[in-house]
Amino acid sequence: MRLLSALYASPADAPALAFGASALRRGQLLDAAHALAARLAGAPAVAVHAEAAAETAVAAVAALAAGVPLVPVPADAGPGERDHILKDSGAALLLARPGAWDGNAPDDLPVPVEPVRLNGPAGNGNRPLPAEPDPASPALILYTSGTTGAPKGVVLSRAALAADIDALAAAWQWTADDTLVHGLPLFHVHGLAIGTLGALRIGSPLIHTLRPRPAAYAAAREAGGTLFFGVPTVWTRLVREPDAARALAGARLLVSGSAPLPVPVFERMRALTGQPPVERYGMTETLLTVSTRADGERRPGHVGLPVDGVRTRLAAEDGGAVPHDGESVGELLVTGPTLFDGYLNRPEATAAARTADGWFRTGDVAVIGADGFHRIVGRASTDLIKSGGFRIGAGEIEDALRGHAGVADAAVVGVPDDDLGQRVVAYVVPDGGVTAEELTSFAAERVSRHKVPREVVFVDDLPRNAMGKVQKRKLVEGS
Ligand code: ATP
Ligand code: MG
Repeated sequence: MRLLSALYASPADAPALAFGASALRRGQLLDAAHALAARLAGAPAVAVHAEAAAETAVAAVAALAAGVPLVPVPADAGPGERDHILKDSGAALLLARPGAWDGNAPDDLPVPVEPVRLNGPAGNGNRPLPAEPDPASPALILYTSGTTGAPKGVVLSRAALAADIDALAAAWQWTADDTLVHGLPLFHVHGLAIGTLGALRIGSPLIHTLRPRPAAYAAAREAGGTLFFGVPTVWTRLVREPDAARALAGARLLVSGSAPLPVPVFERMRALTGQPPVERYGMTETLLTVSTRADGERRPGHVGLPVDGVRTRLAAEDGGAVPHDGESVGELLVTGPTLFDGYLNRPEATAAARTADGWFRTGDVAVIGADGFHRIVGRASTDLIKSGGFRIGAGEIEDALRGHAGVADAAVVGVPDDDLGQRVVAYVVPDGGVTAEELTSFAAERVSRHKVPREVVFVDDLPRNAMGKVQKRKLVEGS
């Protein structure tokens, strides 16, 4: 079967995708993509200036048709990150919309720029169809978000993408009858691999809102959107605008992931739209592997069960088993058909990320209940604080602080401390006048004594990346 099966099977005039006013039917998308694919054949890899634009989707379909791995470069990447990705990936070309960079492409790019045009010669999409490349061959080289270090190139096969899209389609009851809506960036798993290629495999038209604004989501609902993807920041903003949130009331399913969804936001979504959101967990290296289900329980603070074909378990630091009892904390290990092939040019990092028996070590700390439900505690490197002999999850303290009316947002980190090893420090975005003392006594009523922040630092904003992930490294380094 073709990776983008529905795209190749549906009628030429069926709507495929719309990025703002720029809409393509399936035949137009294939015409444009196949004209471009002919120019890519034989390249070791090809990069795309991954703006939220129809051209990025055309580039992706073209690379997949040519069997050349696609390397999305974040549209907002600085020259350092951009050149790192272009050189590290060995991309032969950088595909870009004519007019990207306002027509002034940087003159110091390490590779030539190739324009992506939306109108290819008509009929190109049908004859002759390119042979489907080997499912084991690489489809995407996606760079991680760089939350914990320099972004690493993650090689994902066509088979892994197909397996993940199909498993998510089953979990979310995602079919060609859905119209997918999101405004996510096109250089990560969420917006590109699942939120664009997924739509083309399944055959549900995509409405990309260009930006993930509440009003744009509400408008897309009016235009027929049924399935909505967002990162927690999107949903947090949406519930602050009750009119926009209510506009989504009739949507079939709202999906959140990429970072923890605060429980109060989950509850507000439930209250305003009449249905709880689905939450899912994943990462570049494993694709999206754990999710609550459209036909199952959606429990606040939980990301649900492994998707079809995926298995998970918890491991202690020494590799020993951790019981799945709803309380014990361990590193989450994942195995199954959605795993990546390896980090590009980093054999040591690739080897270090796997156990001897082939499970992927996520670096995330989780709890698994006897019923199989997963709760993500956070990252072992930044969210698991070791203070005075205790192992403390930052998320529990963040949740407690967010429950205070004077707290708009909170991030808790462990800062090196001579006495305790690490001490708990809370960075708080205040909402109105609130004092550090008020917050520590509020926290003391809700979490154990050793978890109460030793220090509260008020900030205007938390450093977050495009996926809504708090960049805790920056907080710790700045403290
Ligand atoms: P880097 O690996 O470069 O530090 P990154 O890990 O942020 O960057 P991604 O692969 O985009 O890059 O993000 C995966 C991480 O996002 C997971 O390891 C996990 O920490 C977090 N994450 C994803 N989904 C959820 C979720 N539903 N709840 C909590 N955390 C999540
Ligand atoms: Mg990571």
